[in-house]
Amino acid sequence: MIKPKDKTARIIGSGIAGIASAIRLAVRGYHVHIHEKNSYPGGKLTVVEGNGFRFDAGPSLFTMPHFVDELFALANKNPADYFQYAEHPIAAKYFFEDGKQLYFYTDEEALKTEIEKQLNVSADPLLKHLEKSAYIYKKTHKTFLEMSLHKYSNFLSWDVLESIAAIPNLGLFSTMHDENAKSLNHPHLIQIYDRYATYNGSNPYRAPGILNVIPHLEHGFGTFFPKGGMHSIPSSLLCLAKDLGVELHLNSPVEEILSDEDGVSGIVSKGISLPADVVVCNADIRPAYKHLLRLDLPAKVQREEPSTSAMIFYWGISKKFPELDLHNLFFTSDYKNEFNQIQNAQAPQEDPTVYIHCSSRCEPEDAPSGKDNWFVMVNVPPNSGQDWDMWRTEIRRKVLQKLERMMGVSNLESLIEFEDYLDPPRIEQRTSSHAGALYGSSSNDRMAAFFRHPNFSKTKGLHFVGGSVHPGGGIPLCLLSAKIAVDTVKD
Ligand code: FAD
Repeated sequence: MIKPKDKTARIIGSGIAGIASAIRLAVRGYHVHIHEKNSYPGGKLTVVEGNGFRFDAGPSLFTMPHFVDELFALANKNPADYFQYAEHPIAAKYFFEDGKQLYFYTDEEALKTEIEKQLNVSADPLLKHLEKSAYIYKKTHKTFLEMSLHKYSNFLSWDVLESIAAIPNLGLFSTMHDENAKSLNHPHLIQIYDRYATYNGSNPYRAPGILNVIPHLEHGFGTFFPKGGMHSIPSSLLCLAKDLGVELHLNSPVEEILSDEDGVSGIVSKGISLPADVVVCNADIRPAYKHLLRLDLPAKVQREEPSTSAMIFYWGISKKFPELDLHNLFFTSDYKNEFNQIQNAQAPQEDPTVYIHCSSRCEPEDAPSGKDNWFVMVNVPPNSGQDWDMWRTEIRRKVLQKLERMMGVSNLESLIEFEDYLDPPRIEQRTSSHAGALYGSSSNDRMAAFFRHPNFSKTKGLHFVGGSVHPGGGIPLCLLSAKIAVDTVKD
């Protein structure tokens, strides 16, 4: 009998899910190759650098690090030898237009004290809300996140029956915003908890209340930041992959996935056919079907709505503001208007929510002494051909105006000594993500979890991982997609 170690697996793309799949297959004994079209690995998890500043180019919020640690443990390695991170008890600082500021503690008791002090309301409704969030997680995570929703045999398990029995209490039939407005007693709290819809690029006014599970990821598991910045997640996993014998081929675009009557047989990269027993596709599912398989997308996947995208400015700022004392800062705004505009593919309002991630507050070497690195992000619709150059100029003006007003400073622009940007066309071009979506498809539809493409295919040996397939976008879910996909690989 052929043992897996005599078999070859090829991974298309070195996004976080591609690297995790490579590790899992290497541990299983496969000879693994990762083929990455770019000259750098990591996909959306990469860096921007210049003038002594270093920025996390994409993700900045890191939850559930145990899914990363799990990969080292799987290979019988000590995670801390490769990857280190620190827990941050304050997830973010919020700034509101009425001048209120709030430190958002993940610990419930500390948050209760802060809310009662800053907002002058009882925090009891919030604590009940968080209990509900924990309940939704308990009843759903195994069914919706940790197994394939596309294998009928899985529907006979106890976990699924438990999820089905809990459906009336999961908020599936109301929106996230309605659930938040019903249970929280201050508009600022409603705004803060509506924001969790953006963790998978959804609209809180349309996404089902079951997404109120997301806050539990922070309150239940904590918020973290990796030593060396977010990019150290893929880079440390790549070190492990290399130690396991995985070969990484950069500048190696894949043009086709090959198959015959027995299943998948290989890939074509730079015009050369390369044999494989298993192919794991980490490229976005839409271009993968169109260009690599030359097939029509399954109808239900076709129906999926892309998640939100983002306009990001990377600003090297020549001074440190004392009030910007954390690595995650939110300058809030009226979400209803903002999401209406995103829904209608329109440019952001005059006063958009502005998120600043300032990694130099955890990693001082990310900026020269006395300076800060601002990753400044505004939510925007996915790319449908808008005039992004014009939008960029407009959004930049709006962001500067808003920050100057809320921070009480003038001529912020004069403090920018390094500048770069990322917009939906750049995201699309650099990572092949359909429409520049950050998280694959949104969860605006209550059935979204069932519409996502499965992690396997009808073609034996062909599997799909990453933000555009089950269970969805964001680092933890991408890591879970690799687990589910590799678990379905038959040696
Ligand atoms: P991707 O990162 O999408 O990478 C896919 C890789 O495949 C790319 O390297 C691409 O070049 C390669 N590829 C594609 N086609 C081919 C081909 N034909 N041949 C060879 N290679 C190919 N998530 C969080 O958890 N927290 C956050 O705070 C957060 N914020 C975000 C902010 C931004 C600005 C962005 C862009 C994303 C954010 N996300 C966040 C989402 C998160 O980054 C993604 O869900 C996740 O990184 C996607 O990983 P992936 O495995 O799907 O691969």
